[in-house]
Amino acid sequence: MKTGSKRSGVLEHSGHDYEKLLARWESLIKRIGWKCSLLSEESALPVLVIQNEAAAEARGGGCYLSAGVHGDECAPVWGLLEWAEAHLANMKSSPVVIFPCLNPYGLIGNTRRDGQGIDLNRSFQDVGVPLIASWQEFLEGRSFDVGINLHEDYDAGGVYLYELTRSESRGEACLAACEGIIPRETADVVDGSDFENGLLKRETSEIEMRRLVNEELDGWPEGVYLYLNHVKDSFTFETPSEANLEKRIATHRCFLEAIIGA
Ligand SMILES: [Zn+2]
Repeated sequence: MKTGSKRSGVLEHSGHDYEKLLARWESLIKRIGWKCSLLSEESALPVLVIQNEAAAEARGGGCYLSAGVHGDECAPVWGLLEWAEAHLANMKSSPVVIFPCLNPYGLIGNTRRDGQGIDLNRSFQDVGVPLIASWQEFLEGRSFDVGINLHEDYDAGGVYLYELTRSESRGEACLAACEGIIPRETADVVDGSDFENGLLKRETSEIEMRRLVNEELDGWPEGVYLYLNHVKDSFTFETPSEANLEKRIATHRCFLEAIIGA
């Protein structure tokens, strides 16, 4: 057997190894020459933001990607990295901003919340959280065509997608691209919301969306905050965290290829 070859999605270490994750991002950034800055260093753990030149010049458009908001959902951070290692070198003309892991404390400890016990995905409006204050500051004045947040769900049996859109829906096509690796969630209700064949699509007005967040959610998820402030279309993609890790990583990569292009 050939040694040194690496099959897609296979990790030779724990999915919660933040040092290895950073080392691979750093080596990629060095190779392609993108800009990497420190968003925050809470608990001595660096939180990085990576962008290409087009994004640093603050042109509008392009895409925003993030993973690792919930630390007990480890496949997204590796799926995003794998996709980036395969495709970022070719993505020069359109702005790209990437948050590779917004909650390293949670990733290392395999916990949903951050070091202060906060569920970041209900806190993206809260500038009292230092990380969120830095995140909002970084995004000030920026707008993107697409925002993508990668998550997992330990109650789910299949993949599913929240799509908040002002454009023609692409959710169905993206789920179809992924279901060969992990099938779609079959439940009609997921986490209290109505889904159809793994897709929850909202073309809700901004006023209605704000009412929904204020009355029904206990704080602002990243995808909703982005939709109301910084992106035209917002996608939050979920894999079932009890499924095989290799397949979950491959599914996140596949989702990104479906939505952004390979
Ligand atoms: Zn999550």
